[in-house]
Amino acid sequence: MSLTLHGIGVSKGIAIGKVHVIRRDVLEINKESVTEIEAEVSRFQNAIDLAHQQLKLIKEQIPTNSTVDVTAFIDSHLLMLEDSLLAKAPIDLIYEHNCNAEWALQMQSDEIIQIFDNMDDPYLSSRKNDIEQVVIRIQRILHGHTDISFETALTNLANTIILADDLSPADTVLMQHQGILAFATEFGGTTSHTAILARSLGIPAIVGLRTARPYIKSDDTLIIDGEHGVIFISPDEHCLRHYQTRQNEQKHFRAVLSKIKSSPTVTQDGVPITLHANIEFPEDMEAVKKVGGKGVGLYRTEFLFMNRHTPPEEEEHFDAYLKVINAMQGGPITIRTLDLGADKQILGSHATTCNSALGLRAIRLCLNNSKLFKPQLRAIIRASALGQVRMMIPMVTGFQELTQIFSIIKEIREELQKKSLDFNPKMPFGIMLEVPAMAICTDLIAPQVDFLSVGTNDLIQYTLAIDRSDEAVNYLYDPLHPAVLRLIKMSVDAATKANKPISMCGEMASNSEYVKLLLGLGLRSFSVNPESFLEVKQIIKNSNIKNLTKFTSQTMAMSSPIEITESLKNINL
Ligand code: PEP
Ligand code: MG
Repeated sequence: MSLTLHGIGVSKGIAIGKVHVIRRDVLEINKESVTEIEAEVSRFQNAIDLAHQQLKLIKEQIPTNSTVDVTAFIDSHLLMLEDSLLAKAPIDLIYEHNCNAEWALQMQSDEIIQIFDNMDDPYLSSRKNDIEQVVIRIQRILHGHTDISFETALTNLANTIILADDLSPADTVLMQHQGILAFATEFGGTTSHTAILARSLGIPAIVGLRTARPYIKSDDTLIIDGEHGVIFISPDEHCLRHYQTRQNEQKHFRAVLSKIKSSPTVTQDGVPITLHANIEFPEDMEAVKKVGGKGVGLYRTEFLFMNRHTPPEEEEHFDAYLKVINAMQGGPITIRTLDLGADKQILGSHATTCNSALGLRAIRLCLNNSKLFKPQLRAIIRASALGQVRMMIPMVTGFQELTQIFSIIKEIREELQKKSLDFNPKMPFGIMLEVPAMAICTDLIAPQVDFLSVGTNDLIQYTLAIDRSDEAVNYLYDPLHPAVLRLIKMSVDAATKANKPISMCGEMASNSEYVKLLLGLGLRSFSVNPESFLEVKQIIKNSNIKNLTKFTSQTMAMSSPIEITESLKNINL
């Protein structure tokens, strides 16, 4: 019998291999009195300088073809080293208490971490990991460990699975470069930098495996199931064979799927379906091209704002959009304006309301802060001269918001015209249907926009009144709730009647279980993550709309979740 541990699966895929357990030295930090105060201060300053040099060296080692702009993650650590909270406050404490640098740094970091611990916002509180990682780096240097990485054996990690208490983004990138198979950590959440990186780099990963390391030693065989968040330690023959078979099936499945990459996305009964991809970074375009994607239905631009202390300037936006335009080679690119707030915060900001999901987020935040919004709008409008750019607004709630946005766009276009800068005056303008109020009013809003996209991740949380990041109520998060299905149908019908294209870019569209149901509800355009792209395409190609419409109308009359799930099984047969 093998031992099984459960954590949070943050990046799909199965990995089987020998584990490399990272056990960082536990640094013992005791308070000591010092008499040579100036020498102690210099020792601290030298440690900060060396930490700075180490991070710069790591930054230089990032391969230029890295699929993610990880330098931003390292830059955020570099900025922390320059922040007076870490670089100066401990010096004041050394003077005040005549104490050693290690103790002063620890006192200061405990205080900062306490502030982060008291934050309700999961994204921001996960940022405390960054502080901890920077502090550990300085403490290690003060203890005389001057090797660049926490792990001295970083040179021989090819084909291993990494198990650690936590991984910094810097270490994750170095390890990925070494060819690791997967990683698992005891700490971290789905929104940690490291989890975001794992998904973007395509490494199976599990986080939140509390106290896993006492059960595992280096060279044990591990199975990681990144989709279900399960690890098997020293699996028995039966378990090993089962997962090897699943792994082979997945490989075979992917190889078979890649054959449909260039074929048209048409149902069995000849209905053409639009299938686009969701991206977070311009570098994700490589994955989009690999699966034959011909358009981007959702570019989540907020990742450009994260992990930094100042928002990007117009040129930085423009450069990012240009990269996507060049990679897309003529296909449509739907650039969604900033969707920060709730679980997505920028450094230095934090949720100001009790329930940030209902607060100042997305377009509300943008209309409240033109310094944040206008440079992005200008960059999108300028980029529209160079490709098939479409602008999409998240979290629209009221018609007044549209009036405000149109007025800002008009103002920007006039400014650009005065400077003889090019733009496409006919750039398609769309909104996301994420707030139930707007989904209900699709018939009223459709004539005012060029396209619509259903954001089920938020639509479900707002319809069912559950915070999507609150683990305690996660069990209520149900895409098949009749209210959700009715809202989707209502929106699709109203948009179709108004002759306005409507798509779905929420995760529901990427889930193979729901594709046929959505087709039956009348949806003819999907935007999905590149990982799921070909699977969704295959289901579409195997579907017969006429049959699905009949099945779906029966499902829509059901109220019991069990009945609906059963009906879905029949639809998917
Ligand atoms: C959604 O809400 O469905 C969506 C696509 O937006 P996000 O997940 O970025 O909030
Ligand atoms: Mg959303």
